[in-house]
Amino acid sequence: MSSGQDFQNQVRERGNIPPALHIFQQFGDLSPIEPHSRNLGHFKVEGPIMRLKLNHRDSLVSLFQAALDTQWKLHFISSGKNWGLGSFLPSIGHTLIVDLSALNSLKLNLDEGVALIQPGVTQQQLYDELKDTQWFANITTSSGSTSVLGNALQKGVGLWRQRHHDILGLRVLTSSLGEISTGALKFDEANPRNYADHAGPDLTGIFMQSSLGVVTEGLLKLNIKPRKFYIFRIDFNEPVFLQAVHLLKFLYQIGTLACVSRIYENASVASYDGAKLEDLHGQSFTGYFCIPDHGQKTYTLDDLRQLADSYGLPQTFIRQLDPDQEGLAPLEKSICGCYQGNPAFNDRMIESSFNATATTMDEASSKGWLTVLPILPLNGEALTNARKIVGEFRTRYGDFGMLFAFTMNIIEPNAVDFVVSLRFARTEEAAELAHHAYSELYTRFAECGYLPYRVDTQRQDFLSSITHPSSLKVGKALRSIFDAQNVLASSSHAS
Ligand SMILES: Cc1cc2nc3c(=O)[nH]c(=O)nc-3n(C[C@H](O)[C@H](O)[C@H](O)COP(=O)(O)OP(=O)(O)OC[C@H]3O[C@@H](n4cnc5c(N)ncnc54)[C@H](O)[C@@H]3O)c2cc1C
Repeated sequence: MSSGQDFQNQVRERGNIPPALHIFQQFGDLSPIEPHSRNLGHFKVEGPIMRLKLNHRDSLVSLFQAALDTQWKLHFISSGKNWGLGSFLPSIGHTLIVDLSALNSLKLNLDEGVALIQPGVTQQQLYDELKDTQWFANITTSSGSTSVLGNALQKGVGLWRQRHHDILGLRVLTSSLGEISTGALKFDEANPRNYADHAGPDLTGIFMQSSLGVVTEGLLKLNIKPRKFYIFRIDFNEPVFLQAVHLLKFLYQIGTLACVSRIYENASVASYDGAKLEDLHGQSFTGYFCIPDHGQKTYTLDDLRQLADSYGLPQTFIRQLDPDQEGLAPLEKSICGCYQGNPAFNDRMIESSFNATATTMDEASSKGWLTVLPILPLNGEALTNARKIVGEFRTRYGDFGMLFAFTMNIIEPNAVDFVVSLRFARTEEAAELAHHAYSELYTRFAECGYLPYRVDTQRQDFLSSITHPSSLKVGKALRSIFDAQNVLASSSHAS
């Protein structure tokens, strides 16, 4: 029996016979997915879903038509590794997941410092293309096999800034208006420059975290490599928590820090390095930041130590890391690589943390994993409140085997991406309780005014509840312009 017939039989047995199954099959490899298929966060979708690995960009217009004919919705993914927030899943059933990972062309313009990338271009592919040039890219600590564009469209956080700030322009296919070019691609399609702010309204932002079209290309801004990357590690504990926060804030305010500082509580470090969280006692913090040396005068280790001293921090607070040093733990190695635009060590960290590879993670990771991502102001009061909230959840749910850990990513002088991760046993019962705690965490942070910058695929009601009515109205209006016939499955982002 051919694999096509085999597939049709499988679908028939489940009673979900898409009227025009053969139509979708002509666009690429099609496979059925259990609506409750295993994914790292144990998210569930009601109704049938299928996954199509698209062969050609040119088929997209016909695919929109096929979706209309069959009344299936489309959900686009670039590499589908949206771990902790829904992985590859759509928000609703009766949806075809369209996997764009085979569209992976990458064109560099080394004079301008830009890369024109398709959705399938991965972090590792981008690094490989750039490693012998004067440019490097803003990389996340997720797998080298994750998509640069997919993450940027979610406003993901790299080690130098939030990823959408790297996007100079987009090419988007919409079901109602056809192809749209934005930003740097709006006027100069053939040879786009490293400049986005052309005359007229800026449309790039409306295609981030929305379901208004499928993004087929993005123009990415690159960074010039410094003479050297100085990477620092800071270690501190509870009594000097506020002093450390004030010092970091000052370094951002005066412009010495322009990277994203990552601060892990010890529970978080242990989880990434594969240690047992149950064995930890007390709370301490380890953080990292990077100061590039472009030949200008900048803070040295001695200067930083003197400054730390004036904030009442001990001499042991700060030290400089040698990224090439033998024996760095997986998390530390991964961070050092990422500051330099190299994701090669991230997968080792993922393996030590999840006992699975990037390919097997959704199916085989030893623990389920969910994340909540509120944005906090960079001040002692907010960070202390947020830590208290995590403490409350540890007390309430710790006996049920759930593990909460947090990381503070300082992304701007006054914005902290406070990442709370929740690990749980991969049983139905544990996953159900974890999702209950997860919903409560969203609400608890929102009640304190700490709203998420990015939510999982199933929090549309929550997001609507915290969004200003006028923005909801605009979201609906935009949808009626770009996707009037509702071909796209709405994302969790209220448009
Ligand atoms: C150990 C670990 C570390 C991590 N570190 C980070 C980190 O440092 N920073 C971070 O941000 N995340 C991090 N993550 C979370 C996650 O893995 C990344 O954000 C990852 O890049 C997202 O998956 P993706 O790139 O495959 O995007 P996808 O899953 O392909 O896309 C995400 C969503 O974007 C939309 N989308 C994607 N492509 C298109 C398109 N072409 N057109 C229209 N819409 C589209 C869809 O709504 C889709 O659901 C981490 C996860 C783990 C487990």
